[in-house]
Amino acid sequence: MRKNRGGTIIILSLLVAILGGILFLYQSPLFERNPPKITLDESIHWNLKDPIPLHVKDESGVKFLRVSMSDGTNSVNIINEVYDGKQLEVNASIEYPRTGFLSQSKNLTLQVEVTDGSKWNLFAGNQSKAVARIYPDNKRPTVFVLTNSYKITKGGTALVAFKADDENLNSLYIETNSGQRFYPTPFYKDGYYVSLVAWPRPDEKFSADIIATDKAGNFARERIRFFLQDRKYRVSTIELSEGFLGGKVTNLAQMYSRDYDKMKPIERFMFVNQTLRNENNANITKAATTPPKALLSEKKLTPFYPLRNGAAVASFGDYRKYSYNGTIVSESYHLGLDLASTAQADIVSTNDGKVVYANENGIYGQSVIIDHGLGLFTLYSHCSSLAVREGDEVKAGDVIAKTGSTGFAFGDHLHFGVLVQGIDVRPEEWMDAPWMNDNIYTVLENAKSLIDRHEL
Ligand SMILES: [Zn+2]
Repeated sequence: MRKNRGGTIIILSLLVAILGGILFLYQSPLFERNPPKITLDESIHWNLKDPIPLHVKDESGVKFLRVSMSDGTNSVNIINEVYDGKQLEVNASIEYPRTGFLSQSKNLTLQVEVTDGSKWNLFAGNQSKAVARIYPDNKRPTVFVLTNSYKITKGGTALVAFKADDENLNSLYIETNSGQRFYPTPFYKDGYYVSLVAWPRPDEKFSADIIATDKAGNFARERIRFFLQDRKYRVSTIELSEGFLGGKVTNLAQMYSRDYDKMKPIERFMFVNQTLRNENNANITKAATTPPKALLSEKKLTPFYPLRNGAAVASFGDYRKYSYNGTIVSESYHLGLDLASTAQADIVSTNDGKVVYANENGIYGQSVIIDHGLGLFTLYSHCSSLAVREGDEVKAGDVIAKTGSTGFAFGDHLHFGVLVQGIDVRPEEWMDAPWMNDNIYTVLENAKSLIDRHEL
């Protein structure tokens, strides 16, 4: 009896020890049961050239990786690798197999198998599989310029019409030498596009390329041939007097800077002319960069004439240097046309459009921005009051605001700006009927007749 009870205790203790051992192993990282993680897209457009990135991860280490590719008839092993099981992550590049077994014209299947270093599954480890459909595409997009404005002026606008073709077009834009991008609008018939292009005022040189990329990473780049017309802009130096620093500069610094109290008068000016100006310009760029729609109305834009009997008091593109005690301390570009008539005069939108901004904007004061389609926007600043709200549709001839001197303005006037996808351009061109006819409407008409001939 005694002996038997002792035996039972030993057996029970053994069972407890075995169960405890199993529980310990079950919870031990050595026996983890999570399959490896494979990062791979399910469908891939591939130019058969750039390696396909593959990322594999496992908490107990990658032990085995196999990658194979099949065209439905033949299968080729691309990676067949045994690891020591200590690598928690493996980054591999899948290259197109050079064996010639696969047909390039067919869709391919990529198969990935990974086993980890866990002792689970009777020491075999956990396994994961992933499959990706591969669509071979090594054809470049085709880009073909139909027609464009003959010239572009420094600080000005031009138009280009072109054809772009690819089965898997991914992105299409125009890029200038300074990296500025313009996104085109579909035009007239399938596969054709138009875009306004701007030569940014601060850029000394200019070139513009149409760039098309497809989903497989193939790309095409086509130069737009413009006659480049340089333009000399006025450069002026403004002496900063104590009186000047005491007026609007002080008011604006007080309104917009928390550190106003600690600033010397010249620091207040630097804050207004640089920090605040950059912030306000960014607001304008943001509002005037919404993706271009087709022209809002089918009718032609008429030359802008925002202020009746408005006399120009400052031009677009003036480069201003600011001097304090004999040293240049700051600079800025004046990127609008200043027009003045009587105080609180009516400001009119000459063309249909949609109000995309109607708000206070620092140095620009009360401002309105209108989207006219095709990436063209107009800006009206220093207003004393606004008659429209964001989201309003305006019709040609509508009064949108009254002139004033809100913001960094001296005397009642309108700061009128024209922007092409966020870039300020010469308003003078868009106020000039012959210019608009030669550079915009004739180009559009020529493009249409070229497309009609192409189609035949
Ligand atoms: Zn101005």
